[in-house]
Formats: sequence, C-alpha cells, structure tokens
Amino acid sequence: MEETKNIALVAHDNCKKDLTEWVNWNWSLLLNHNLICTGTTGKLVEKALLKKIGKEKVSEIKITKLKSGPFGGDQQLGAMIVDGKVDILIFFWDPMQPHPHDVDVKALLRISVLYNIPTACNRSTADFLISSQLMSENYESVQRDFSAYLNRKV
Ligand code: PGA
Repeated sequence: MEETKNIALVAHDNCKKDLTEWVNWNWSLLLNHNLICTGTTGKLVEKALLKKIGKEKVSEIKITKLKSGPFGGDQQLGAMIVDGKVDILIFFWDPMQPHPHDVDVKALLRISVLYNIPTACNRSTADFLISSQLMSENYESVQRDFSAYLNRKV
C-alpha cells in the first residue's frame, strides 16, 4: 500500500451515527486518503466532510459511492478487495440486528481476512487504525501462500 490509502467505510443504519461522529473526529486525516463507501454511508460521510471544509472545497474529497449495502454494495467492496483496490476496511456492522444482506456482510468480512486487509468493526479499533504510524507510510502486507491449494489435484 502507498502512503495514500484506499479506505472503505461502511456502517449499518444503527451504527451510522457512530461512524459520522468518527468521521467528524478524523476528517482532516481522512481527506488525505481515497474513500470508498456503500451508498448511504457515502452520502453521510460526504455531508460530514463538507460541513467541515465548506461546500466550495468539494473537490478535496476523494470519495467513491458504491451501491447501497443491501443492493450489492458490500459485494462490490468485496470484489474491490480481491482486485487490490481497498487497503483498509472500516465496517461498523450492527451486532444487535439481523439484516437481509447478512450473507453479503459475512462474505465481505471473510474476504477482508483472506486478503489480510486491516479491518475495524468498532470505533476503538478504528481509532487505533487511523492513528497508526503506518497510515502515512508505504506498507507491504504479508499474503499467505495458497499455491498448494490453487495447484491441488482435482
Ligand atoms: P448503506 O449500506 O451504506 O448503503 O446503508 C451499508 C450496509 O448495510 O452494508
């Protein structure tokens, strides 16, 4: 990963307030990076950042808004991880409510672990991640060698 990171931000509805507050705390750091969000989360993140910097500086926000989570946004993010387009995942998922796209949530979390993506599922982990020295450095993550599996006899 480069010094400028591709940071994915996702929050379930009951956690959107949490994520918005977190963005309000960390807005200046976040402006240094490329943000990728599921649809509704993206709208809120953009609104929070615009409130901090003013509407005339909208071009300073590098944000990609995918489909809303239940409409495939989580799957789009998973595919981006597979393609090496996401460096960090901040995903405030709701531990108290089932969702229609629970399988997509599980798939996204699985793929983030498989590809060794730094992943924060709550605010304190997100605080530790964003304040890491590695956020402003190049970083080469270790990838497990799956060649034996990929070349197995079938
Ligand atoms: P949303 O999706 O940002 O479009 O609300 C998040 C999710 O439910 O995964």
